[in-house]
Amino acid sequence: MTGERILVIEDEARIAQFVERGLIYEGYRVNVARDGQTGLNIARDNPPDLVILDWMLPGLDGLEVCKRLRAAGSVPIMMLTAKDDIKDRVLGLDAGADDYLVKPFSIDELMARVRSLLRRVTPSSRPEMLRFADLSLDTGTHRAHRGERAIDLTAKEYELLELFMRNPRQVLTRDVIFDRVWGYDFGGESNIIEVYVRYLRQKTEQDNEPRLIHTVRGVGYVLREE
Ligand code: CA
Repeated sequence: MTGERILVIEDEARIAQFVERGLIYEGYRVNVARDGQTGLNIARDNPPDLVILDWMLPGLDGLEVCKRLRAAGSVPIMMLTAKDDIKDRVLGLDAGADDYLVKPFSIDELMARVRSLLRRVTPSSRPEMLRFADLSLDTGTHRAHRGERAIDLTAKEYELLELFMRNPRQVLTRDVIFDRVWGYDFGGESNIIEVYVRYLRQKTEQDNEPRLIHTVRGVGYVLREE
């Protein structure tokens, strides 16, 4: 039994029940909220290890709930959506979602994504301090520093930065990044990597700090000094 607490925010009873049963069967503790405000209240009172959040909700929509959850902390957020176009994905990512699942989905796919997100955010038993130039990353606390400046990272931002920090000066192709950070094939839709690299650059390049994550056009990205 893993016992991690998962909050499911989904108004459609059939889907909520399907997800809840699957998660309980796998040993997770589950709270279900049928609207966004209830979900936020539960998250505040009983901080979950992961949130599964439907996009289309009555009242506060999933995007707004996502923003508020993100403003309150770095809990991994997986959005459920019937919308499958790039613009919506980017909106969700901008709001701080870590992953997506497009309806309809299988319970196996859901569980694989849940395990992947939880595994990647569970602090390792032997924390390391990864360093490159004036950037450091604590694998225990998942916090980064640029010099003395602390940088808060969401779950996926952390994973992406950790991948770069563990492979400095090596060009990482999109395929490798997808496989290592998202753990599955995005079906050729690679915009998500650009979005996350942009987030990392915003966070690691304040006050004219020199760029560390460079684009290798047509190939991928590399962590290196100018
Ligand atoms: Ca819904």
